[in-house]
Amino acid sequence: MAFVTKTFYSQDDLQSHLKAHHPSFYFSSKTSTVIPYDKIESLLSWERSEDFYLCDLSKLPPHLELKANGNLVLSGAVSWEEAKVFLRAKGRTLKTSPTEQLALITAGIATSCTGERCFAFGNLRSQVVRLRYLDHQGEERELRREDAFESSSPALKAYQEDFKFYEKFKNAPYPRFDRAIDLMIGTEGQLGLVTEVEIETALHEAVTYVFLLLPQWEDEITPHLEIFNAVQAHRSSIISCELLDSNCMGYLKPDERLGSGQDVIFLEILSADFEMIYGDVLGHLKTVSPENVFEIAESKFHRIRAGVPRAIFEENSKMGVVKIGTDVQVSGDRFPELMKFYREASKIGVRYCLFGHFGDAHLHYNYMPKKEESARCLEELQRLYDEVLGWRGSPFAEHGIGLLKQKYIKKFHGPHQRALFQDLKQEHDPLNQFFPQGFMSTKP
Ligand SMILES: Cc1cc2nc3c(=O)[nH]c(=O)nc-3n(C[C@H](O)[C@H](O)[C@H](O)COP(=O)(O)OP(=O)(O)OC[C@H]3O[C@@H](n4cnc5c(N)ncnc54)[C@H](O)[C@@H]3O)c2cc1C
Repeated sequence: MAFVTKTFYSQDDLQSHLKAHHPSFYFSSKTSTVIPYDKIESLLSWERSEDFYLCDLSKLPPHLELKANGNLVLSGAVSWEEAKVFLRAKGRTLKTSPTEQLALITAGIATSCTGERCFAFGNLRSQVVRLRYLDHQGEERELRREDAFESSSPALKAYQEDFKFYEKFKNAPYPRFDRAIDLMIGTEGQLGLVTEVEIETALHEAVTYVFLLLPQWEDEITPHLEIFNAVQAHRSSIISCELLDSNCMGYLKPDERLGSGQDVIFLEILSADFEMIYGDVLGHLKTVSPENVFEIAESKFHRIRAGVPRAIFEENSKMGVVKIGTDVQVSGDRFPELMKFYREASKIGVRYCLFGHFGDAHLHYNYMPKKEESARCLEELQRLYDEVLGWRGSPFAEHGIGLLKQKYIKKFHGPHQRALFQDLKQEHDPLNQFFPQGFMSTKP
């Protein structure tokens, strides 16, 4: 058996490959943090004698089209960045804005990608109107949001009942499977390949970015929680609410750093509503003085916000350690407990930083260990996931399961989830040709 890498330049080639039923892993921009691409061959264990294919979809011809109703139709290799530029020229904007803008939108469907603008616009799942995908026979099929999810699996009803608890989370511990489109959303390329997507967009309106300087969360969490509570009722005016803690600043060039040893919360606010937000929210904070509120240019915000996770990613690669970071979202009432957990976790003597989608109670806590410290950090992660299970939070609300999180997700999947995964794999991937090592195929 050998690993064979294949790049696809046309949909016809891809369809021919699918018709041959080769076991394969398909990838797009390779920005997933749960698939370690630099050592993927050692992790994609494959015991059968036939070759295993690593299939590059990032060269499929891109196509973008704006419909009269404002929906964006795209196919092939289109990144979030390209779609944003395309829409801006037409007075529209994306409702989803993942921090890594070089990722492809078709892959974002597969990972049920979310991002900063989720705060105002909800998750990508709710914005997908229609999509097309290639099935295990290489046939292109269409799924529409208005149609209900269909499966002959006896486990479907119980699965859907279980999911109801997680409806408000960005992503639950398992995919939704309620609307027809859900077959391709968050299933990480295990049931077919997304080729075309129609998503809602929003009118492009002027926005103002501000940041607030706060004490370090490890010492004093009251101001952070005051802001968290204050922004919740303003999700139509505040588009995003992000945090970079003081430890993150060290990953930025000196002239990009904000504050001095302080945490930073960013707000993206509709300019038309800025006065109202300033008057009703920012001007009324008891624990943050208006002197600690500053405006920042949009381009600088994006550079800083994306610069931190990218730098962490690079540092981990250099150190030869797999990223040890969290992707936990909890309900608002559990947020103080989550922060308390992170505070305890910060005391084990390993370098760390905290950043992410603060307004959604969804943060990425990252250890930056030396090789010999990794095992201790992994123990802390396991402790966290046990807590999240008890809190009924979502352990991986954004970056998916991939290969790296399978060990941890197992406890979150009960008999209904495992039975439906098995039945869907049988229905849609009978020859196990789509990412056979994915979470839908793993044993308890
Ligand atoms: C710095 C940084 C910031 C990030 N910020 C965010 C964020 O804010 N929000 C967020 O959601 N994620 C974020 N991510 C994670 C990542 O960008 C997303 O998971 C993204 O959707 C992956 O897109 P990609 O094109 O790189 O996919 P890949 O890494 O190439 O693939 C990811 C998965 O999708 C499957 N797949 C790819 N293409 C298709 C297809 N056409 N059909 C079916 N399956 C397919 C693959 O098999 C794989 O399982 C971030 C990553 C980094 C490095």
